[in-house]
Amino acid sequence: MTFEEIKRQEQQNMMPVFFRFPVALVSGKSATAVDVNGKEYIDFTAGIGVNSLGWCDPEWSAAVAKQASAIQHLSNLYYSPVQTAAAEKLCELSGMSKVFFANSGAEANECALKLARKYGQDRLGPECTEIVTLKNSFHGRTVTTLAATGQDEFHACFAPLTSGFSYAEADMESIKSAVTEKTCAVLLELIQGEGGVVPMPESFVKDLRAFCTEHKILMMVDEVQTGIGRTGAFYCYQNYEILPDVVTSAKGIASGLPLGACLCAEPFASVLGPGMHGSTFGGNPVACAGALVVFRRLASPEFLNGVKAKGGYLAEKLEEMPGISSVRGMGMMIGAQPAHGSAAAIAAKCAEHGLLILTAKTVLRLLPPLVMTKAEADKGLAILRKVLDTLEAS
Ligand SMILES: *Cc1c(COP(=O)(O)O)cnc(C)c1O
Repeated sequence: MTFEEIKRQEQQNMMPVFFRFPVALVSGKSATAVDVNGKEYIDFTAGIGVNSLGWCDPEWSAAVAKQASAIQHLSNLYYSPVQTAAAEKLCELSGMSKVFFANSGAEANECALKLARKYGQDRLGPECTEIVTLKNSFHGRTVTTLAATGQDEFHACFAPLTSGFSYAEADMESIKSAVTEKTCAVLLELIQGEGGVVPMPESFVKDLRAFCTEHKILMMVDEVQTGIGRTGAFYCYQNYEILPDVVTSAKGIASGLPLGACLCAEPFASVLGPGMHGSTFGGNPVACAGALVVFRRLASPEFLNGVKAKGGYLAEKLEEMPGISSVRGMGMMIGAQPAHGSAAAIAAKCAEHGLLILTAKTVLRLLPPLVMTKAEADKGLAILRKVLDTLEAS
């Protein structure tokens, strides 16, 4: 099929909800992808932070293929050894006590929100079901996670949304005025991804941890984008040296297969009981087989130090570029503010020149595969530099 045929098939048959680049990818290796015409691209996106081990890592591909030919699905009415092994490893790496497996970030957050409401009713009082989230946050696309998302642009068109949410700025003054006697939880990202790669200040995160403990409010951290090694720690809260009460995870967790997780600390281990939550596909064995490879690789301190080093290298090179005015982020989650031109136009030009890069608000957003080589990084940086230079010259 030619690219034009693929594009026509998409337009004729699919809901037009996505802004797509004129690129159809068919294969890939490490951080290099190949399109339908055989053109190569350096990948600074990893899906959207999903392919943590890059395109078709050999160990990952073998484990997934093996699982797919042993048993591809069983309902959650039965035990699955690959699912229980993934749960054990994830609890160990996160320091959390229990996990529920879902299929996506939004679903992981749905579990956290249900857990919070149940916790509030059980332990604080029947009215205590309200949840505070941050302005500029992003928590998903379901009706309830849209309500949790503190950005008006996402709310338009879909009223009525789930009630019981209020929104605060990322500072303790604002949190204190949003929290009422009915609040059961605060949910936040430690680096707002869709919000433009905005890291939370360390003092705010530590003060919020202490405040939540003092008021018996759950501190719930959405690590859907920041988790699974992305920031140089297994979970970003480990960089902040705090332990949340509830953590949600997805995107990079199975390096490209749909898996989400909602984790909770020991005191909340039995808030959700039998029959209160579930999922048909959640914790699918093929996805869990992929996740086990990710967990095994990320358990090594050298791997995580490598992420820090690669992220530091990328950030340093971006800072040196004349077309970039500022750089922020942590590990391999980086936002680069272009000095001129829109991030979207730059990303489109990069794709033409063989570089896949994301945007978030006004910044260029980099979420490369964690296994990206230096040669790939240099090649991608050179393309970006060329695109920015042309923009500067025009
Ligand atoms: C992507 C994302 C989500 C939603 O994940 P889906 O898998 O698309 O449902 C939720 N929270 C954060 C922080 C995200 O980056």
